[in-house]
Amino acid sequence: MGWLDNDVALVTGGGSGIGLAVVRRFLGEGARGVGVLLRDPQQADSLRAEFGSQVLPIIGDVRVYADNERAVADTVAAYGKLDTLVGNVGVWDFFAGLMRTEPGTLADSFDEIFAINVKGYLLAARAAAAELRKQQGSMIFTLSNSSFYAGGGGPVYVASKHAAVGLIKQLAYELAPHVRVNGVAPGGTATPLKGPASLGKQDTRLSELAGFEQAVTDATPLGFMAKPEDHTGHYVLLASRANSRATTAAILQSDGGWEIRGRQKK
Ligand code: NAD
Repeated sequence: MGWLDNDVALVTGGGSGIGLAVVRRFLGEGARGVGVLLRDPQQADSLRAEFGSQVLPIIGDVRVYADNERAVADTVAAYGKLDTLVGNVGVWDFFAGLMRTEPGTLADSFDEIFAINVKGYLLAARAAAAELRKQQGSMIFTLSNSSFYAGGGGPVYVASKHAAVGLIKQLAYELAPHVRVNGVAPGGTATPLKGPASLGKQDTRLSELAGFEQAVTDATPLGFMAKPEDHTGHYVLLASRANSRATTAAILQSDGGWEIRGRQKK
């Protein structure tokens, strides 16, 4: 028996990185099926190859309401209901600092990053809320250490991830008592996280940054860089009605301990 037996989820950005690990783990916990809203057709092919009919890839862009709406409708048509929305799509700004970024580029990167990281969550929530309400289900959004602390990106990424905290609180308020709304906040993780076109980073991967793993390892109190699967138990816990019935507007930090600001010298 799994913690998510017979549940149905929709995961945005579930074709790679943390989202893909969540898809695998949800199925491992007994989920009946998972819809995945993604942009990249190659990721759709590899999801079909790995999971067959247990996963339904839906090609679309989280910034477009109609795509979120279609993802919900297709998931419900395929698997009969929706228990959990995992809003997870994000792009990073590759430390585009205030004074190192041209004003016009800064403005464009704000529009693009906020549209993906914040509006994408808002629209997915709007599209999924009615189906989740029918199941007394829940939403879980992927946040970041940048939802709480400076230094994990430039001002635009950090502000976008702080904004998603406010979104979780307000949605939890508006959707109670029917739908629980929570977050998981990973720290630096080995994924192909990319950047926005407005910064020319649409094909650059975080995992390719020279020295990134060492920098994360050195800065993290627990002393290692996480893999996507290291975070997935938190999503399972929050999705599970049996184990999180009394939890809404909560954020589980999975960042190796940024709160404690380093390691004590021994
Ligand atoms: P990832 O790039 O593997 O996952 C993001 C996915 O979203 C990709 O598959 C990408 O193709 C897709 N995507 C991007 N823009 C899209 C759009 N407009 N519409 C539809 N799909 C789109 O990277 P990841 O690290 O797994 O990122 C997942 C989440 O984790 C993000 O919200 C990110 O901010 C957060 N996060 C990552 C780290 C890290 O170090 N990797 C740390 C903290 C938080």
